[in-house]
Amino acid sequence: AKAAGKSRVRLHADTPDEAAGRRARLARDLPTAIEEGQLRLLFQPVIGVAERTVLGLEALVRWQHPQLGLVPPDEFIALAEADGLIVPLERWVFGEATATVAPLLAEGFDLKLGVNVSVRHLQAGCLAPDIARALAASGVPPQRLMLEITESVLMGAEDGFEGDLSTLRTLGCVISLDDFGKGHSSLARLARLPVDVLKMDRDFIGHIDGDPRTEAIVRSVVELGRTLGIDVVAEGVETPGQLALLRDLGCRFLQGYLLGRPVPPEQLRAVLDGFDTG
Ligand code: C2E
Ligand code: CA
Ligand code: CA
Ligand code: CA
Repeated sequence: AKAAGKSRVRLHADTPDEAAGRRARLARDLPTAIEEGQLRLLFQPVIGVAERTVLGLEALVRWQHPQLGLVPPDEFIALAEADGLIVPLERWVFGEATATVAPLLAEGFDLKLGVNVSVRHLQAGCLAPDIARALAASGVPPQRLMLEITESVLMGAEDGFEGDLSTLRTLGCVISLDDFGKGHSSLARLARLPVDVLKMDRDFIGHIDGDPRTEAIVRSVVELGRTLGIDVVAEGVETPGQLALLRDLGCRFLQGYLLGRPVPPEQLRAVLDGFDTG
């Protein structure tokens, strides 16, 4: 039956029942996915505006489901968090991402590796040892690893995570606040957090050209970063206009489809070589 109310945005062209069925199916199959090696990683470049080279790679997880095909993380990360599977999932991601990037570092590519970290993993209390294990196994130096933690979730969590983050920072890892601006960080708390990088949410970047208010917000985030000594990355850069504006605003690090889509490991070398000559 047609819903009488407002139409809703759907990720998939299916009914609410089908969507719930798919979710249940994914939740049921997720343990197998981790055990049987159905997860995959893509890597998206982070570009330095001045250097015009790849300064970083962000690891983004996918699930190659045997029947449903490629499943994006927005469909299963929350399930993994709810079912206590996020820790084994991210252990796999940390291991796979560091193993993929280690040979590139050995070849002399000057890169940081970004991995996304769930606050649940931080709460589980084993984040630091899990990170340390992946670094030791791969030989990737801690300074090369950037841990991306979603701002809104971190700020919504109780106080006390500053300590855990500090531990990881003591290891030498770079700490990044992801989706910055989407949540509601108090600036006072931001100043106290052990954070090295802000990743500005792509909603802002998507509206930056033609919207003076958004431009003003982005400008002040870049300025805030400069004042606090925090690097600012603009995410979701899709058009040359956005690129030009961000460059003018002094944003030094860019990520987005315009600069490079997420690619599988076997295409990484081509991405790195492509930017080196450009
Ligand atoms: P995120 O960390 O904010 O990652 C950026 C997302 O934006 C990625 O979506 C990326 O493919 C997409 N993106 C990059 N450039 C553009 C652009 O120019 N335009 C648009 N429209 N999108 C762009 P993806 O790969 O689907 O990942 C979605 C989210 O899933 C990530 O958002 C992250 O929060 C989460 N995620 C991915 N991998 C992991 C993981 O290993 N662990 C955890 N906890 N979360 C992960
Ligand atoms: Ca991220
Ligand atoms: Ca983000
Ligand atoms: Ca996100």
